[in-house]
Amino acid sequence: VDQMDQVKTHFHLNEQTLSYLNQRIQIDKLILGAQANDELYVLYQPKVTMGNQGIIGAEALIRWSSPQLGLVSPEQFIQRAEFTGMIQALSLYVLQDAIVLLDRARVHNEQFTVSINLTATCIESGYFIAELEHCVKHSGHPASAFEFEVTETVAIQHYETAIKGLERIHALGCKIALDDFGTGYSSLSWLSKLPLDTLKIDRTFVSNMFNSNADVQIIKAVIALAKACELNVIAEGIETEEQAEVLESLGCEQGQGFYFERPIHPVKLLPLIQAQSHQNAKYKAKAQRAS
Ligand code: C2E
Ligand code: MG
Ligand code: MG
Ligand code: MG
Repeated sequence: VDQMDQVKTHFHLNEQTLSYLNQRIQIDKLILGAQANDELYVLYQPKVTMGNQGIIGAEALIRWSSPQLGLVSPEQFIQRAEFTGMIQALSLYVLQDAIVLLDRARVHNEQFTVSINLTATCIESGYFIAELEHCVKHSGHPASAFEFEVTETVAIQHYETAIKGLERIHALGCKIALDDFGTGYSSLSWLSKLPLDTLKIDRTFVSNMFNSNADVQIIKAVIALAKACELNVIAEGIETEEQAEVLESLGCEQGQGFYFERPIHPVKLLPLIQAQSHQNAKYKAKAQRAS
């Protein structure tokens, strides 16, 4: 009999569970080779100022194009990479890629920042943090050009082990954002314990804005909270002009979402940044002549 058949009988697995397991084992196996085989790449989603839609930075979002599995979404493989420990190598790869983007983007916009997502395993590892410090210090860019995003759940569930890593990143001069804010179950006291710069309003609140008054009230409260704690606030998942307008009127000055731009390749992003820097230069020259 087939080995899998034996496993199936032994553990009383049904077809569904089996295919679930198979899929995971396959991802684990293939992700190990993904980096070496050049199957990974990074897209960047712009972060903009609501009013003029000016690009202030971009979030790095990893992609895996596997010859065997096709395009695998990060939601599927990040969790597996976290499980197998691959996530550390993978995150350093993203960091290196982001440094190259900074090299090219900051020529046109010296305020441009890049945001990188980090998981629990990364911020808990002294080895990973040391690598991150090395990369940032030798990048040729100020540490403040780097922002690291951790989810509320990671920061709080792993507080004891994660706080040291977050504090080291912050001491370096990098920014820290609390991602998917509002979806976890943090008490407000956490906000003062964590070394934070930014709250990122989760996209579920944004997408429910016009169906649920409660969600609008939560957004208002998060914006007020950020202002009171002197934190920067940004809304993610903005898909329509109406959402952008309401968020701006509520005092949220920065946003990210398909309405402004999808995650795109640097080849597409860099001309946008360049075009804006020309526009700004023209605008400045005009203002100077007028004064
Ligand atoms: P996230 O950090 O919350 O990233 C935002 C996700 O929402 C991205 O999905 C982005 O493509 C998507 N998104 C942005 N704007 C919109 C919008 O207007 N509407 C909708 N429906 N979606 C929007 P993506 O790239 O599939 O990534 C999913 C998650 O996977 C990320 O959530 C992050 O937690 C994780 N991830 C992605 N890349 C990395 C990475 O390099 N490292 C780590 N550790 N995690 C990553
Ligand atoms: Mg993020
Ligand atoms: Mg997010
Ligand atoms: Mg999210």
